[in-house]
Amino acid sequence: MAAVVSPALKHWRTTLERVEKFVSPLYFTDCNLRGRLFGNSCPVSALSSFLTPERLPYQEAVQQDFRPAQVGDSFGPTWWTCWFRVELTIPEAWVGQEVHLCWESDGESLVWHDGEPVQGLTKEGEKTSYVLTDRLGAGDPRSLTLYVEVACNGLLGAGKGTMIAAPDPGKMFQVSRAELAVFHRDVHKLLVDLELLLGIAKGLGEDSQRSFQALYTANQIVNVCDPTQPQTFPMAQDLASRFFGQRGGESQHTIHATGHCHIDTAWLWPFKETVRKCARSWVTAVRLMERNPEFIFACSQAQQLEWVKTHYPGLHARLQEFACRGQFVPVGGTWVEMDGNLPSGEAMVRQFLQGQRFFLQEFGKICSEFWLPDTFGYSAQLPQIMRGCGIRHFLTQKLSWNLVNSFPHHTFFWEGLDGSRVLTHFPPGDSYGMEGSVEEVLKTVAKNRDKGRTNHSAFLFGFGDGGGGPTQTMVDRLKRLCNTDGLPRVQLSSPGRLFSALESDSGQLCTWVGELFLELHNGTYTTHAQIKKGNRECERVLHDVELLSSLALARSVHFLYPAAQLQDLWRLLLLNQFHDVVTGSCIQLVAEEAMSHYQDIRSHGNTLLSTAAAALCAGEPGPEGLLIVNTLPWKRTEVLALPRPGGAHSLGFVPSPGDSAQHGLCSCACPQLTAAPPAPAACVCPARAPADSTSRLPPAKTDGSVTLDNGIIRVRLEPTGRLTSLLLVASGREAIAEGALGNQFVLFDDVPLYWDAWDVMDYHLETRKPVLGQAGTLAVGTEGGVRGSACFLLQISPNSRLSQEVVLDVGCPYVRFRTEVHWHEAHKFLKVEFPARVRSPQATYEVQFGHLQRPTHYNTSWDWARYEVWAHRWMDLSEHGFGLALLNDCKYGASVRGSVLSLSLLRASKAPDATADMGRHEFTYALMPHEGSFQDAGVIRAAYSLNFPLLALPAPGPAPATAWSAFSVSSPAVVLETVKQAETSPQGRTLVLRLYEAHGSHVDCWLHTSLPVQEAVLCDLLEQRDPAGHLPLREASLKLTFSPFQVRSLLLTLQPPLN
Ligand SMILES: [Zn+2]
Repeated sequence: MAAVVSPALKHWRTTLERVEKFVSPLYFTDCNLRGRLFGNSCPVSALSSFLTPERLPYQEAVQQDFRPAQVGDSFGPTWWTCWFRVELTIPEAWVGQEVHLCWESDGESLVWHDGEPVQGLTKEGEKTSYVLTDRLGAGDPRSLTLYVEVACNGLLGAGKGTMIAAPDPGKMFQVSRAELAVFHRDVHKLLVDLELLLGIAKGLGEDSQRSFQALYTANQIVNVCDPTQPQTFPMAQDLASRFFGQRGGESQHTIHATGHCHIDTAWLWPFKETVRKCARSWVTAVRLMERNPEFIFACSQAQQLEWVKTHYPGLHARLQEFACRGQFVPVGGTWVEMDGNLPSGEAMVRQFLQGQRFFLQEFGKICSEFWLPDTFGYSAQLPQIMRGCGIRHFLTQKLSWNLVNSFPHHTFFWEGLDGSRVLTHFPPGDSYGMEGSVEEVLKTVAKNRDKGRTNHSAFLFGFGDGGGGPTQTMVDRLKRLCNTDGLPRVQLSSPGRLFSALESDSGQLCTWVGELFLELHNGTYTTHAQIKKGNRECERVLHDVELLSSLALARSVHFLYPAAQLQDLWRLLLLNQFHDVVTGSCIQLVAEEAMSHYQDIRSHGNTLLSTAAAALCAGEPGPEGLLIVNTLPWKRTEVLALPRPGGAHSLGFVPSPGDSAQHGLCSCACPQLTAAPPAPAACVCPARAPADSTSRLPPAKTDGSVTLDNGIIRVRLEPTGRLTSLLLVASGREAIAEGALGNQFVLFDDVPLYWDAWDVMDYHLETRKPVLGQAGTLAVGTEGGVRGSACFLLQISPNSRLSQEVVLDVGCPYVRFRTEVHWHEAHKFLKVEFPARVRSPQATYEVQFGHLQRPTHYNTSWDWARYEVWAHRWMDLSEHGFGLALLNDCKYGASVRGSVLSLSLLRASKAPDATADMGRHEFTYALMPHEGSFQDAGVIRAAYSLNFPLLALPAPGPAPATAWSAFSVSSPAVVLETVKQAETSPQGRTLVLRLYEAHGSHVDCWLHTSLPVQEAVLCDLLEQRDPAGHLPLREASLKLTFSPFQVRSLLLTLQPPLN
């Protein structure tokens, strides 16, 4: 056959559209190529179904009573499951052909064959056929039975009307197609080629020679290809191959295409559905790996793999097999893809510790890149945490969502708070769910902000968020584009290969220092306040359990460290730190599950605390009573509420006890609280106050206002509960701005553009309305002694009200605001403001293992895009010599604008959870004016104290007769954050200690311990010994050196018990 000569008359538009019609699934399918994709078809032999509200395991489901069903039947409602038994017989006439089961239904489906999952099917994810055979052999069995498990929810949940609306509980689902069909693979290949040629023609445009070459090639293919005559296809294929075989030059950009499937661990669907999403998505990826040896699939989140290991062991074994071949690549290193802002430093370490240990155990190696493509900002401490966990590379793309400023890099070094650096890459296509189109490939090259500095990019393809993953068509497209003139080179590649390529040519890369702040989703610091509170509390509970259990281990021969229980509880906490859970951007079902996880952690944690306390009390003489525990590594002088018989409480005062109260325990002959052990010891005394302040404490009330004074600070509240004055008594410095009022509640309209639970927009600031109280509600609460307080009520709106107790304790440098709110609002945002008599262009906010500064002004677009920011336990506004710190026990949203410190308290978003934050809330914040710097004034320790109250644990047996201290640190700049048993602990007697430098300074210090230490050695965050890290023990002390914000971990091996 002679080559077709194309006349030179071609018109761009008609030629392009001619080709489009030739591949169109909508037009001319009676005569075009698309219409020939499938050949003969026949119905399945029999279809029956079984409907259940449960998510049953396969073995149980197939035992149930299946009833005859038909295509077109509807089933549901939302979150139910319909199991279909599909009996089929392939016609004998189809020998030699490729045969598919074509299955189209609403919901997400999983095909089972012989008791194993074999293929996920979803219309939304462009997966509607299961390949029964590539080529039916003459002797092959032609009859078989399959099961199709259809989950009654879409890839992205079941939102009523829009994706993020609360789920519609009554949605019904339908199977619209269930039949066998012959698949024409040669037609499919030509369709892929024609679509790519169209993409090149359109993407390169009429200014490009190559564009016309692509278009004319496509046109020629249409000319030679007769859809009804398969013998014409090879000539068409030749034309395409000739075009795609024309190579690019040496300088071509290289795209590393990696299959991916982002699965939100819970979001618009519950955790349990995610387990099935993983199976559906990954079994599909396994099929692709089987059929395409060059296809590589990157998969993150150890928790999801652990679910699959438990529920689908056969699939897990296949994943391990493909991991050995290098096709299945575990990435990320963390337990889940956690939020990058809210989790504590220690919790972030545990994400990696739990994750990396799982990856090592199941796949033989730890991950070398951190993977957080879809998270709402990235803490400045992450680079150090990554480096400590064996990770040098980081990938995300979320900063492309910035609303105001476009981030200046796609490939760069990210330098953290302590100076640690990681090579960071944002796929320049700004997505983790590409489909392999030419448009995306060209965008990846065009948008790359580091042109000239680097010549490699990542390209993550596959349906994501709700799972789904890549399709064979995507793989086929990318394979075809491996090296074609006019386009970048496309390799099916792994993140490892990408990063080695980037690393080997990194000499010209720029560096970004500090946090990667997302200029969007800033409401997630506040939404779902109970989840935030659960997070903060449970971080504290696990800290305390680990410390106390470690001390019990050191003190008691018989104590068994609850390693397995702690691992379970940590994993629950880490699970809740997923980027759509702790952020509050989930549906009501998920929020309820999250709250029950916190409840489990609290109740089991408290049991473990009691067990450890009992072990600490055993074997020592002394009366039964309370064990008072300070879980912080410094002396504390605090008022403590002590339980009394009958459920009542009385106030006790822990005076400064000489030198041994750090990390210490003491006992007391409770319940009378009269016999305190002699000093020096941390102990509990009856409610009495030091002589010098007793006279000042009783709240003075005149003209409806109340003054609280403990000799350190003097607080004056006007009749509606606002602060007119906050004075440092010794210096007479006033902390509240002249003529202004502190503790001012303010209400804002809070209607974002779309992402309701996620976003608070800049314009909410224009709707500020102070909440005005009514005079006369302010009353004296506690009348003095060791504590003085005042109470008031505030009607926030017709539906919402607030009550507050303003509390000042003897010896305490801060005043606490214990707050209860009954909140019933829609699209309102409640904050509390403190205008300070302080002027500074920057404010300081606590972050993981440290703090950072952000501007208090809106000079540049980068400054004003940070109108709502996050902080952990404290924020501070200081000028030279004086400052005001605002502490909190469970809040994360904050801002300082000018001299006004503002804490974000409650939001009222309605999607995806219409009930979010409605109801009762309790929280405490505190205000601490100080002289000097916040470091020297002890703001950091005060915030710890607020968050880690002294424990008063019932001692079931005799409590230790004398107080003792396990650890203390010689420098106030260094915090001993964590004491736990090592994950790998021969004889169970190795502890891990984690300390960090909190002031931002170079420090040499001594860690003193009273524990019987045999050996001390530095280790990394994964608890691996530093070969050069041996630490000599001198007089029960270890010398440690820190640079600013450095985190150090050490392994302490305790001496064997004496008996
Ligand atoms: Zn996500």
